[in-house]
Amino acid sequence: MSKKKLSIVVSCFNEEEALPMFYKAISNVAEKMDNLDFEFLFVDDGSSDNTLKLLKKYSSHDDKVRFISFSRNFGKEAAMYAGLKESTGDYITVMDADLQDPPSLLPEMYRLIALEGYDIVATRRVSRSGEPKIRSFFARQFYKLINKMTDRVEIVDGARDFRLMTRQVVDSILSLGEYNRFSKGLFSFVGFKTKYLEYENIKRIAGNTKWSFMGLFKYAIDGIIAFTTMPLSWPIYFGVLFIFISLILFIIMICKSFIVSSLFAIITLLLFIFGLLFVFVGNIGLYLAKDYLENKKRPIYIVKETDKDL
Ligand code: UDP
Ligand code: MG
Repeated sequence: MSKKKLSIVVSCFNEEEALPMFYKAISNVAEKMDNLDFEFLFVDDGSSDNTLKLLKKYSSHDDKVRFISFSRNFGKEAAMYAGLKESTGDYITVMDADLQDPPSLLPEMYRLIALEGYDIVATRRVSRSGEPKIRSFFARQFYKLINKMTDRVEIVDGARDFRLMTRQVVDSILSLGEYNRFSKGLFSFVGFKTKYLEYENIKRIAGNTKWSFMGLFKYAIDGIIAFTTMPLSWPIYFGVLFIFISLILFIIMICKSFIVSSLFAIITLLLFIFGLLFVFVGNIGLYLAKDYLENKKRPIYIVKETDKDL
């Protein structure tokens, strides 16, 4: 019987410092898991450092290595999508290049899929140590909020993108062809029997995180917009509430021939109502903008260079 193949998909954006250690670590694991064939599929997401050079070097002397290099930085979501799409393995895993996703978990993850019948073995950080406190706080609030707002799809707090999946799961994820990709939601949307392995947060081995606070904030908004349309219906509740309040005020005014004389009160009320109105209009704009981009059907990524035929 021919060996099954495991594809390791790695998105890299300016990872020249971490890559050598990462490559060594996954090579060691691949050596140990000799009942499987391996494919290391690196996606260079428009790096401006020596990442591509390193990938070319690995690819030239290691048959397991393949790479795709984008024409510019398209973002991690696009890189993961490209990697999943071009992977050829029976099992596929997505990993970061900075060793925050420990390759040492792979044998156990594979065992759970191969022997215990799971379709997905995902990982979850149980601590956020080493991360700025304020970032952890907002991250936690984000998970609470998004899970309140979405039904059916659960976004697990601390879940990493690092997961081992069967080909069937990956094909299901790829069948969701949307342009605005929020993988944490897509992974959960497709369902399947999932096992979570937990581990303590590990610091990035070298280089710097590519996420700024603003970047994470935008990512959080993208996630909410991608998986719930609930905010679009909020103006209705407020509208009904305001009409109700105005009716009561109207009745009071008639009964007591009471006239609001204070200009201050009127201005305050107007500011409040206009403020709300702008928030709601802006909110509709956010959804509209996403839909606009979705309708353009632009490619999720553009490949500039690759090694072997893809
Ligand atoms: N990454 C990418 N494109 C980007 C940003 C990040 O491919 O535009 C890759 C990055 O090289 C790394 C992974 O995504 O392999 C996770 O990035 P990072 O470690 O910066 O995120 P964090 O772990 O801090 O959330
Ligand atoms: Mg990282």
